[in-house]
Amino acid sequence: MTKAVRAQAMLNAFKIPTREFNVPKDVNGNPLRVSEYYGENVFDYQKSEILTKQDKQDIADVLDNKKDLTKEMAEKFANAVLNWATSKGATHFTHWFQPLTGSTAEKHDAFLSIENGKPIEKLSASQLIQGEPDASSFPHGGSRSTFEARGYTSWDFTSPIFLRSHENGKTLTIPTAFVSYTGDALDTKTPMLRSCSQLSKAATKFLNITGGSKRADDEFKSVDVSCGCEQEYFLIDKALYFERPDLVMGGRTLFGASTSRNQQLEDHYFGTIPERVMAFMQEVEVELYRLGIPAKTRHNEVAPGQFELAPIFDKANVAVDQNQMIMSVLQSVATKHEMVCLLHEKPFGGINGSGKHLNWSITNPKAGNLLDPSDTPHTNYRFLAVVSIILEALNKYGGHLRTAIASHSNDHRLGANEAPPSIISAFLGDTLTKILDAYGAGEKYTEENPGFLDLGAEQLARLVRDNTDRNRTSPFAFTGNKFEFRAVGSSQNVGIPLTVLNAAVTDVFNDVNERLEKDIAGGMSVDDALIAVTKDLYNGAKHVVFNGDGYSQEWQDEAAKRGLPNLKTSADALKLIADSDANNFLVKLGVYTPTELKTRYNVRVERYCKHREIEFKTLVNMIHKDIIPATIQYKAMLASAIDDQKDCKIDPKVDTAVLNGINDKLNELFDKTSKLNKGLENLGEDIADAEKIANELLPLSEEIAEVIGYLEENVSEDLWPLPTYYDLLFVK
Ligand code: ADP
Ligand code: MG
Repeated sequence: MTKAVRAQAMLNAFKIPTREFNVPKDVNGNPLRVSEYYGENVFDYQKSEILTKQDKQDIADVLDNKKDLTKEMAEKFANAVLNWATSKGATHFTHWFQPLTGSTAEKHDAFLSIENGKPIEKLSASQLIQGEPDASSFPHGGSRSTFEARGYTSWDFTSPIFLRSHENGKTLTIPTAFVSYTGDALDTKTPMLRSCSQLSKAATKFLNITGGSKRADDEFKSVDVSCGCEQEYFLIDKALYFERPDLVMGGRTLFGASTSRNQQLEDHYFGTIPERVMAFMQEVEVELYRLGIPAKTRHNEVAPGQFELAPIFDKANVAVDQNQMIMSVLQSVATKHEMVCLLHEKPFGGINGSGKHLNWSITNPKAGNLLDPSDTPHTNYRFLAVVSIILEALNKYGGHLRTAIASHSNDHRLGANEAPPSIISAFLGDTLTKILDAYGAGEKYTEENPGFLDLGAEQLARLVRDNTDRNRTSPFAFTGNKFEFRAVGSSQNVGIPLTVLNAAVTDVFNDVNERLEKDIAGGMSVDDALIAVTKDLYNGAKHVVFNGDGYSQEWQDEAAKRGLPNLKTSADALKLIADSDANNFLVKLGVYTPTELKTRYNVRVERYCKHREIEFKTLVNMIHKDIIPATIQYKAMLASAIDDQKDCKIDPKVDTAVLNGINDKLNELFDKTSKLNKGLENLGEDIADAEKIANELLPLSEEIAEVIGYLEENVSEDLWPLPTYYDLLFVK
């Protein structure tokens, strides 16, 4: 690394390069309340000045599924959108979609049209509803050949249309699904939407069986899936970022010696937010509020340089889109503050990686949150049955949930000793476990008010007990009135794990509904039927419950005894997608077609291999271009110093020891790098290649990283060409 770069980074850190940015103000220049500008960049048809009252009613009916969208309605809607967007300075529109790359994609078109030689702004109904990006360039896993590579984006009117601001203009952004000419989903959104409607159907039926009314007009109509995604990320100085090709090419450091101070003092978590980072966070939040994204919490995370943002939860589809936007806003605002936001699951070795806790619950407007234990969880039979259903879903489909979050980058986190392991287990907390244990044994749980903490003092109001200890080591934890899927990776599109979770739970709901209908028709009371279901499901599934330390080796051993799947690498996990029997439930529920599964299998295996290949090539490149030359330079310095001292009859004891140590490691580095290079020859993108990568090449690259760590610690600081963990993590 050049001295100038380090100096620049230090200067950035000291000067705190805050930007003058557009804090929303009123005409007198006074700052606006958040509530006064919240959502100003989201299209709200209710506020449109050019739609009539009747138009608005018609649109509301379409959104409520009471009416179909007619061509005429779509024209009016498009016109209203156009009017709003251009009045706010937008010049372009884009269909925004989530292809199988896991990120988002977009192609922009100007509103500008020339009609009869005159410039006008235009957005037609068909431009709003359907787009045709060049689908052949998106991963399709061999599901289509190029000649029929047409793919369509189609407007998802359940997620709001919004404006994105850039430094010099605004773009109207239309959330869309992306499907092939033959109707296969080429994105993550479409299956996710399907899974939400399947779960809604199954859970609604469950509600109607167990608590419904005989009157059709009083029936439960639907159930919403709610999601809140906590987003973790790292921030590093931009000047340093570009000096680390591994960060630029693959988002993580491929090597790096630990500093003397990592996170052992545990003082970063919830610590004071550094001034420079605070300036960044505030700009991020203003941007998100404008986009109608309710950013709620911000804090330091466990590792140095690591932070978290969580919004208030929303309906699944909206929450997923919002999470994609959050990631994008974090990254774009960071650059404006001379920083880079790293979303990779494991940018640095030796300290915590980043996850994205997916908080999940199911709710009906009348019945409330089905995961709310209420004040008396022990007699809340519907709640207990729903929890047992979810445990059974984990029991049947734990491997699928693991597969849903498999990626080259999340592999570094899962199973590492500071992240949830790749074994999918559930944490319930003591109270809930005790209650379910009792019902499982066929007994009634009798303790009064288990949901309350008795503080022993009348002056203190009874506090509702947080039924769940803050066990952070579980991949899937019950936290009060929701489950929290914690093994999801920070960079992932949550749509994929969400789809699988929804489908797994739906599958069990469907079986349970059948049984409940029979039992109740046979004369059982609803309560007794629910208790019986809870008993059987819990007894069959309780081996997935684990309330202890999920990071410990004991748990790995115990889980093996219990027969829980432990798919350690993506190469192991992804194979499950190719197992058609195991995926029957997904096909049966109509969440994925067999072709779509095949596509996903091919794409994900291929991407795993490609990402790793990029990492390996970057590593080799850095070794040859940076590390070997720097080490040789230092060796030469030492060698001539040794010679000089010998001339003076001085024993160069230390110099010789250092030189020998470095020389041995350099030889080792060279040999191992050659071996890695050899392994890269003929490396393809099939599952056999993925296995070779996971089992041979990746471990080899980790050995190489250790050797480089030695060199980094022993070669003179002045000669070491790359920013170290000290620079990257502590210069802020
Ligand atoms: P933690 O203590 O794990 O940081 P919080 O209570 O702050 O968790 O909530 C984390 C996320 O969970 C937030 O995005 C929040 O909006 C979301 N959340 C809270 N309740 C629910 C719920 N019932 N369903 C889904 N998400 C929820
Ligand atoms: Mg959490």
